[in-house]
Amino acid sequence: MTSLTLSDLAQDPVEIRCRRCERHGRYYKATLAALEGVEPGTALPDIANAIAQARCADWSELGNKRCAVYFVELALK
Ligand SMILES: [Zn+2]
Repeated sequence: MTSLTLSDLAQDPVEIRCRRCERHGRYYKATLAALEGVEPGTALPDIANAIAQARCADWSELGNKRCAVYFVELALK
């Protein structure tokens, strides 16, 4: 299975939401690309994890209480 990357998203900025907390935001691709560990070929789920880890309050929660950021554009398809 091929993972989507930032270049597969039509939006810029891209809109993200968290399934667990109130976290909601828009980030320019260039901003996301500047996150630690994010390289041109980084899969979107990995980027989402990086955002949740950096921005969400509940990242330290274990299991299904943990924050999970997703890309709104993909959720609409
Ligand atoms: Zn969250």
